[in-house]
Amino acid sequence: MERDVRLLGIIPVGNMGGELLLEAMNGIHDAFSAAMQYQDDAVFFQCAQVVDRPMNIPKTAYNSEKGLHSIEPFFGLSREVKEIIDRTLVQQGRRKLYKSLVLTDVPLYSNVFNISVYGEADVNGSHAVVSTGLLKRGARQTTLKERTIKECVHELGHTMGLRHCSTSTCVMSLSSDLYDVDGKSRHFCPACAGALSFDAVW
Ligand SMILES: [Zn+2]
Ligand SMILES: [Zn+2]
Repeated sequence: MERDVRLLGIIPVGNMGGELLLEAMNGIHDAFSAAMQYQDDAVFFQCAQVVDRPMNIPKTAYNSEKGLHSIEPFFGLSREVKEIIDRTLVQQGRRKLYKSLVLTDVPLYSNVFNISVYGEADVNGSHAVVSTGLLKRGARQTTLKERTIKECVHELGHTMGLRHCSTSTCVMSLSSDLYDVDGKSRHFCPACAGALSFDAVW
């Protein structure tokens, strides 16, 4: 039987790349792969950058009143890019992107929740957005990498059906501030790892 490989597509936007992006992709891959020991399904992950170079920040995203970028247009960008990438993948006889994650450096604001956010995702959907903008505060490069990995894994966890977890060290615990982010691990607790859901068709 063919290996069930799910492609997690990363779309860098703005000033995003280099070592931070590479480490984020490695960290995402490792966290999801580690979770599979709690699953009956044999699912394998691949995490790859799906555009050649970082994309421009969506023009409509800047909210001059807040001095921040709205997160919603980044979801729009994710949908546009995924559609194009999927078309190419299907033409090549490959499976579509399983999930799409926009990773950007500009601080983001959610108009829906009326707060600044580290990221957001469609629960059980295909898209997630994470920003390092607010994660940079007081952080050395190693701390920033760690925080970025945690937030990426967290938002992708939502796309695979997970809600927030009450185990404070679990990557799915809700982070209201950087103290919370630094206090959790980049891994799923056994309960969350076992509850990740993988659609057979997408
Ligand atoms: Zn969350
Ligand atoms: Zn958990």
